[in-house]
Amino acid sequence: MTQHARQSGHFGRTTVGLALAITILLLASPAAAQNASNATLARVLVLGTGGTIAGQASARAGNAYDSGKVSSADLIAAVPGMDKLARISAEQISSIGSQDMNDKVWFDLARRIRAAIDSNEVDGIVITHGTDTMEETAFFLQNVIDTDLPVVLVGSMRPSTAIGADGPANLYEAMRVASAPEARGRGVLVVLNDTIHGARWVTKTNTTSVETFRSPDAGPVGYVDTGSLRFLQPAAPAKGAKLKLPEAPPLPRVDIIYSHANMDAAPIEDAVKRGAKGIVLAGVGDGNSSKAAIDALAAAAKQGVVVVRASRVGSGFVNRNVEVEDDKLGFAVSLDLNPQKARVLLELLIANGVTDPKAVQQAYGATP
Ligand code: ASP
Repeated sequence: MTQHARQSGHFGRTTVGLALAITILLLASPAAAQNASNATLARVLVLGTGGTIAGQASARAGNAYDSGKVSSADLIAAVPGMDKLARISAEQISSIGSQDMNDKVWFDLARRIRAAIDSNEVDGIVITHGTDTMEETAFFLQNVIDTDLPVVLVGSMRPSTAIGADGPANLYEAMRVASAPEARGRGVLVVLNDTIHGARWVTKTNTTSVETFRSPDAGPVGYVDTGSLRFLQPAAPAKGAKLKLPEAPPLPRVDIIYSHANMDAAPIEDAVKRGAKGIVLAGVGDGNSSKAAIDALAAAAKQGVVVVRASRVGSGFVNRNVEVEDDKLGFAVSLDLNPQKARVLLELLIANGVTDPKAVQQAYGATP
């Protein structure tokens, strides 16, 4: 196993020193010697970003912990048998809780993945990531990375120092998926709790349970454990063109406005004043909202703000022109994309110059 510590924003000298020490230790270990002879194993690059999977108990009281304290190299070294699954290299992109996930880390991830694929360094990628915004990162990468190789996000619900930490098993299973030829051509995947989900459909549904990730409208794409890997369907044919990653962050500002009873126009007007280029409505029911809110969205659309109606409900498709006159008002609907993923897609579309409501709708998917 080789470990490369890449110096990036949050990855200081001490960590680099530690990673180098781990490199020497691992290269000198019997596992590394065996790895060297396992030239047929898949090459998997692990990119660490932080999260609870890299969390450690904190000095604060109770079950408090801090995300992103352990490097991906250390996480790998702590899981027995990883060297039998793949030839692994590890780099640290960031060390943050995913509540702090941001455009810079997304761009760093996308560029590193592309470089690794373009230079034929890897057969698969694993990204260790916090669970809070994992679905957004997965969906972002799904839109900007054009590859058949498996790109697998993994995290955990319990920190590495917890009793019954779920990180090691999740990491092992993610490595199984990332190194498997059967995982090719399936887009970006999320692996936790023995379950494999597709980036478009997966969402976090429970604040603390290890069984938090679900794909409400599509179901999981497969299952994995330490002994088996099963996909429920054959891989879909390649989808073709993807969206272009802009030259540099930040992505255009897109705000999510959460709809509720007794809603007025203020949050929408404020978003426009703050310079939002797009607004995603986390609407009630079928992407709906009060008359005051819909009128404010229509006024925003007239001014050139791109408006997409999604739903706060958590499952189901948002339909066009049912209670809201989308054609007349110039809105698009997100279909099965939840508000946080609808936002990611809208940021990328606006960055790519796609702002016409019909073209925007086409990007979310055809409607009946
Ligand atoms: N706040 C953490 C994060 O998203 C939670 C987790 O990883 O489960 O980084």
